[in-house]
Amino acid sequence: MASRPFRDLTHDTSAHISGEQKQPGVDANRVLEFVCIRCGASAPADVTIDSRGCARCQGTAPANLRPVYAVPQPDPLAGAKGSSSLWRFAHMLPCGAEEAVSLGEGLTPLLAAPRIGAFLGVPDLAIKDEGRNPTWSHKDRFSTIAVSVARARGAKIVATASSGNAGASLAAYAARAGLKCVVTTFAGSAGAMLAQIRKYGATVLPLVSKMDRWSLLEQAAARYDWFIASPYHGPVVGSHPLGIEGYKTIAYEIVEQSDGTAPDWCVLPVCYGDALSGVWAGFCELFAQGSITRLPRLVAAEVHGSLSDALASGADALSERKMLFDSLAVSIGTPRSTFQALKALRESGGHAVPVSNHGLIAMQERLARDEGIFAELASVTPLIAIATLKDQGVIAATDRVVAVVTASGLKDLDRSAGSNEHDRIFRTTDDAWRWLDDSGLDLAS
Ligand SMILES: [Zn+2]
Repeated sequence: MASRPFRDLTHDTSAHISGEQKQPGVDANRVLEFVCIRCGASAPADVTIDSRGCARCQGTAPANLRPVYAVPQPDPLAGAKGSSSLWRFAHMLPCGAEEAVSLGEGLTPLLAAPRIGAFLGVPDLAIKDEGRNPTWSHKDRFSTIAVSVARARGAKIVATASSGNAGASLAAYAARAGLKCVVTTFAGSAGAMLAQIRKYGATVLPLVSKMDRWSLLEQAAARYDWFIASPYHGPVVGSHPLGIEGYKTIAYEIVEQSDGTAPDWCVLPVCYGDALSGVWAGFCELFAQGSITRLPRLVAAEVHGSLSDALASGADALSERKMLFDSLAVSIGTPRSTFQALKALRESGGHAVPVSNHGLIAMQERLARDEGIFAELASVTPLIAIATLKDQGVIAATDRVVAVVTASGLKDLDRSAGSNEHDRIFRTTDDAWRWLDDSGLDLAS
């Protein structure tokens, strides 16, 4: 598909849209065009999504695109149909339910978490448990859309640069769709997520340099028209804009599960901010339709502090931070986030909180023991961010807070599990009872 030029249309997209003939293309019935989230310049519906975002903003502050729908979108909640997956919100998504490649993603529980909430100083805390998705991470909301679009466009191969949750998720949905999947990874990548990627039958290409992971995808897109779901160009603007639309459904579900209200705060772990950006778009759509009467404030739990820097400086272009330590929260360990994340934080009056390794495993264990929710290490960074903002007086004790736990704790057991040194082996039940009697457990209750 040939790349088509951007048109200059900074401030008034509506006038342009009404007079424009839709370009023929698979998404033409749904997506009228794309616009830059920063400057508003438009690009046609069949523009090649080349991971560079807006052509105009590229040299100053790289920014992602977002789709504009051909038909004005209705109330997300009133139009929901069926109950089996996030595709009940298909009327808000870039392709129809009849084109969906689905594994039953979405509809994850929003669980009241009063015990750990009290520990953090915010008793009205709820956990949106995205570890309950088909591949045990929130990335399934992205992959179901991306792979559905790819298949509808006739792509034979989908690809991503990820040895983590995104790779595992894309591999699963490609398998479901009958498409091939190629995943470029770091040489030396290991762990449960890489094993998961291989189990779904994806081709894994380990490369020594991060830049080569991206270059290979760029070449594959140019030579063979592979559908590339992840970023493959720096500075990163975010992932494929149509996939990001899937994250809107997290906001819809939170409001549905909260009797039609939005929380005061919604806190997510943030790498390139695809989910943060999508969740913000979802809340804004609900607000525009009158489904909610106020918007939540967003918080990004990050690692190296690029969003905190940009919020403080007011810059649109994020600076790359020095990586001063190896984060245990590998899913979000980027030295530089994106404008799309920054924009969501700014518009919501939000905050970014850098989270170190200190206390991360202890918080993971507290969440598991207090609430029965076993989360990936990156997924408990929101809890540390909440505690930090509560201590700073930013979040009040009476605020309603939703923390999005993005993935299951089974994903990074290789990093979080201690040794088995505490395990005892008992030769007889008498031995076990002797130990129990001495253990301090109240055995009768
Ligand atoms: Zn722009």
